[in-house]
Amino acid sequence: MSEKYNEIPIAGNIIEPGNSEKYKTGGWRAERPILSDEKCLWLKNGTCGRCWIFCPDMAVILTEKDGKHAFAFNYDYCKGCGICANECPTDAIHLEKE
Ligand code: SF4
Ligand code: SF4
Repeated sequence: MSEKYNEIPIAGNIIEPGNSEKYKTGGWRAERPILSDEKCLWLKNGTCGRCWIFCPDMAVILTEKDGKHAFAFNYDYCKGCGICANECPTDAIHLEKE
C-alpha cells in the first residue's frame, strides 16, 4: 500500500484504526529468523516464550505443529531485526540471509 504525498492525511494522522495490518513490513527484511524446534524450550516443556514477548512487530506467532503448540514467524510482518534470536536463551533461532 502506498500513498502519494498529497493523499497522506494532515500531520500524518492515522484516521483509520487498525490500518497497520495493510503495511506488509516484511519486505524490508534482509535476514529472516529460522527456528530449530529441537532447541526450543516451549516445545520441550511449555516454558519460555521470550521470542514471542520481545518481538516488536508481533511477528512471532503461536501455531500448531504435530498436534503441539509451537512458535513460528509471520514473514509478512517480520522485519528481520533479530531481537527474537538475541533474546532466545537456547540459541534456537538463527538468522539467514534472504
Ligand atoms: S526478527 Fe525481529 S521482527 Fe522478526 S520475528 Fe524476530 S523479533 Fe520479530
Ligand atoms: S525464545 Fe527460544 S527457547 Fe524460548 S520459546 Fe522462543 S525459540 Fe523457544
